[in-house]
Amino acid sequence: MGGLINYMRNLNVTREQVDTLARLQKIETESARIQKKLKGTVSQTAVQGARLKELDIELEVAQEELAGEQKRYAAIEEEVVELNTRVVKSQEYLRVVTNNKDYQVLRREVDDNTKRVGELEETLIILLDELEGREKKMAEISEAHTAESEKVKSIENEIYNDTVEERETLEGMAREHEDVVKSLPPALLDHYEKLLKTTDRLAVVKVSGGVCYGCFMNLPPQQAIELKKLGGLHHCPRCHRILYFENDD
Ligand SMILES: [Zn+2]
Repeated sequence: MGGLINYMRNLNVTREQVDTLARLQKIETESARIQKKLKGTVSQTAVQGARLKELDIELEVAQEELAGEQKRYAAIEEEVVELNTRVVKSQEYLRVVTNNKDYQVLRREVDDNTKRVGELEETLIILLDELEGREKKMAEISEAHTAESEKVKSIENEIYNDTVEERETLEGMAREHEDVVKSLPPALLDHYEKLLKTTDRLAVVKVSGGVCYGCFMNLPPQQAIELKKLGGLHHCPRCHRILYFENDD
C-alpha cells in the first residue's frame, strides 16, 4: 500500500481532484443507500404478491376439477343418448320379430338398457349438484383473486408513487456520476476503486477537527496541517482511506 500511496502522491493530485473524488464517493454511497431502500420496498410487494400466487394456484386447481367434472357429465349424457337410441331400435325390432327366442333377447336388452339409463340419470342428478357446488366455489375463488390482485396493484402503485423522488435522485446521480468519472485522471480513479474494495465501499472520508472520519483516529498534526494548507492526496495512516479537508469552523 505504501508504494502505491507514494506513487499517487507523485501524480500531483490537486485539492480539486480530491474534492471531486469525495463527491464521487458521496454519489456512490447515497446511490447504494437509495437502491437498498428501493430493494426493500420491492420485497414488500413480494410479500403481498404471495397470497395472490396462492390464489392463482387455487383457481387453476378449481378450474381443472370443474373441467374434469363437466367432461364426466358430458360423457354420461352421451351414453344416455346412445342407450336410448338402442332402446328405440330394439323396440322397433320387437314389433316385427316372429321368433320367440329373439323376442326374449330383445325384450331383455330393452329392459337392461332402460334400467341402465335410469341409473345413469340418477348419477347425472348427483353430478349436477356437484357441478353447481364447484361452480360456486370457482366463483368465490375468482372473486377473492380479483380482490387480491387489485390490492396488490394498488400497493404497487402506492410504492411506485412513494419512491418517485428516490428514483429521480438516482437518475440524477447516475448522470452526475458519469461526468465526475470522466473528469478524473484514470490512475486516480483506479486507485480509488481499488481502495473501495478494502474499505467496505468507503474510500474517501473527511477530516474535521484533525480527526479521520473513516476510523475516527486523530491524524498526526503535521499531516492535518498539510492537508488543510496544501491539499493533495493524503491517506489516513490507520485506515488508509483518502482524506479531504472539510472546514470545521
Ligand atoms: Zn482513518
